[in-house]
Amino acid sequence: MPLVHHLYQLQQLDRELETVQQALLRLEEQLAHAPEVEAARRRLQAAEEEHRAQQRKFQEAEHKADALRRKIQEIEGQLAGGQVRNPRQVQVLQEELTYLRRKLDEAEEAAIHHLMTLEEAQAAVAAAQEGLEQVLARRDEREAAWQEERLRLQARQQDLLARRAALTDQIPEEALALYEDLRGRKGGLAVARVQEEACEACGALLSAARRQEAARLEVITLCPQCGRILYAP
Ligand SMILES: [Zn+2]
Repeated sequence: MPLVHHLYQLQQLDRELETVQQALLRLEEQLAHAPEVEAARRRLQAAEEEHRAQQRKFQEAEHKADALRRKIQEIEGQLAGGQVRNPRQVQVLQEELTYLRRKLDEAEEAAIHHLMTLEEAQAAVAAAQEGLEQVLARRDEREAAWQEERLRLQARQQDLLARRAALTDQIPEEALALYEDLRGRKGGLAVARVQEEACEACGALLSAARRQEAARLEVITLCPQCGRILYAP
């Protein structure tokens, strides 16, 4: 097979290799990072923290109500036991009782309010746990698909590399060096097809003599404008 045809084939292989390698890199990136899982974990953590905070508030409210109940019992005991006989003192204690009972009502109401908030926080933890499980299950599915795709791409890459090695064996060293050099300098495009009497890469119109030369695929003809290898099959 003629030299320039080989070079063109090599370019096709290299471009596909590049696509495969980029796809593999993207897959590695996707496999290495799981932002949706991290976000679901953070949501669960926040819900658990809120739950602990609400638990503390509820316990504090309960303790406050308990302390008031004990104090009320104490004064009720004093009044019922008849230790306090002075009417002025009895009145003071009864006034304190009234005050404490009102405070207890308030404390019990607050405790009920905190209990409701605590139950909401509990439900939020359960929902966040379920959310995380769903995210993890979806992640597992996607990762399985990505692993499969990675294996497929790796096999394709091996195949392309083997074909590339077989092809470069048939290309003289100098021509290969020119190809690599042009690929490096010309945006990955070393070989340009001749289309409608012009270089497809830069659009330069080619003389009939140049086109005839390019059609002889055994020798390398360069585009006079962009310097790429011309390919006119
Ligand atoms: Zn050109």
